[in-house]
Amino acid sequence: MDYRYKSLDLYMVPLRSDNYSYIIHDRETKKTLVIDPSENEALVTFIKDKGFSLDLIIDTHHHDDHTHGNISLQDMFKSEIIASRYDQDKNRIPGQVGRTLKDGDRFEFSGYHFRAISTAGHTLGHVCLLLEEANWLFSGDTLFGLGCGRLFEGTPEIMWESLQKLRALPDDSLVFCGHEYTLSNARFARHVASNLPGLKGYLDSLEKRFKEEGRTVPSRLSDEKAFNPFLLADHPFFKSLGDDPAAVFGNLRKQKDNFK
Ligand code: ZN
Ligand code: FE
Repeated sequence: MDYRYKSLDLYMVPLRSDNYSYIIHDRETKKTLVIDPSENEALVTFIKDKGFSLDLIIDTHHHDDHTHGNISLQDMFKSEIIASRYDQDKNRIPGQVGRTLKDGDRFEFSGYHFRAISTAGHTLGHVCLLLEEANWLFSGDTLFGLGCGRLFEGTPEIMWESLQKLRALPDDSLVFCGHEYTLSNARFARHVASNLPGLKGYLDSLEKRFKEEGRTVPSRLSDEKAFNPFLLADHPFFKSLGDDPAAVFGNLRKQKDNFK
């Protein structure tokens, strides 16, 4: 178990080169869910080794590295799949989807509550999930440690709006994102924002953490609000890039796309 909130245990399962699938198990009701099943066999093994079943599969978006396990896991455990309404309408979620989500929809898991936050940009159907009681934010490929997802389907305007929704969440939220990209994003942050007060100390702490723990996820949303360049597009620090925050965001995103 990696994190605990009341009767909920959260397991971070690193898969592929840098994906995270998240398993949440309620010790009282024995109910279990997975967010973004990146693989099938590794997750089946993990779930069986723990003696769990799997009640629910939640997908933040349709990309294969977030949904690849849907079908096998559903076949094996008869799990329900929950995904965004948009992605289901586009018929791009593998497996039988039981329920769909649009912005603001809430659903219960074992007496706790998830809220869907529609965050188009990386893809147009992307949703993030906030476990409200614990302030655990599952941000998929929208918000990463010090970074954000590439704009495969959305425009800078759309993504900037989505990031502002996440920025409005409580400071103490823990950001459980879809990939371990933080240290590579940190190089970009150092490049565009080396003089940002406090940044250097934060980057040092991340490197230390990666050395000790082998990962930098989750991060605190307060740190993302302070140091993630993509959440600072309307901050005076980036004034030189323009007056329109969405355009500043677009500029930063484009610089990152070409950053080596
Ligand atoms: Zn993706
Ligand atoms: Fe991904």
